[in-house]
Amino acid sequence: MTAIGVFGGTFAPIHNGHLRLALELRERLRLERVHLIPAGEPPHRDRPRVPARRRLDWVRLACAGEPGLVADACEVERGGRSYTVDTLSSLRRAHPETSLVLLLGDDAANHFHTWHRWREIPGLAHLVFAERPYEPAAPEPELQTMMRARRAGSADALHARPAGLFMSTHLPPLAISSTRVRGLLAARRSVRGLVPQAVIDAFTPEDLENLTHDEDPATD
Ligand code: ATP
Repeated sequence: MTAIGVFGGTFAPIHNGHLRLALELRERLRLERVHLIPAGEPPHRDRPRVPARRRLDWVRLACAGEPGLVADACEVERGGRSYTVDTLSSLRRAHPETSLVLLLGDDAANHFHTWHRWREIPGLAHLVFAERPYEPAAPEPELQTMMRARRAGSADALHARPAGLFMSTHLPPLAISSTRVRGLLAARRSVRGLVPQAVIDAFTPEDLENLTHDEDPATD
């Protein structure tokens, strides 16, 4: 069965760690495409100063010319708080016969159990966790038990059924975060090599103000 990757985030801004995760897992898991979905209003953090539409513009620029990466506006257009369970439900309605694969970094695994209606999510999609530098995986016990009981042994297993399996993957680590990018911008330092060049070229003075407001300048 065809498999589609679903990769949500705040993307303030999108960086090369996000892109590598999407591209590597697309290849490794043979995903037809990966939807990168900027949150309209992320439920778990303060509302970013950068408007959702602007974060979506950057995701579009980063995906341009990358076959298989799709900038998906669904959460931005839905408005209000962005809950993954709602996004997956609407993708499931649109693609009833497709395997949906939710892609997450390990830091997301560690607070997954706090997400809105999280227990319903494995009924809608498979979950694939990618190791992230400085974020050791420590999912809470109920999730760990679920992961052990329903572990996918291979990419083939993710294609054999539409949802319900768990996988952990190791990727070549990229120690990049949006926080670090914002810190470098706040220190008026270069973010070349960390953020797609088309996104850097599109930053306006207002974007830079929104990204760096209240941000501690990077010192390392
Ligand atoms: P911030 O520093 O503002 O918290 P972030 O870099 O973590 O931002 P998000 O938009 O919050 O970026 O992350 C979206 C998803 O991408 C999450 O699942 C996160 O775990 C994952 N992710 C982000 N950066 C990396 C990276 N370098 N390696 C692996 N996964 C990553």
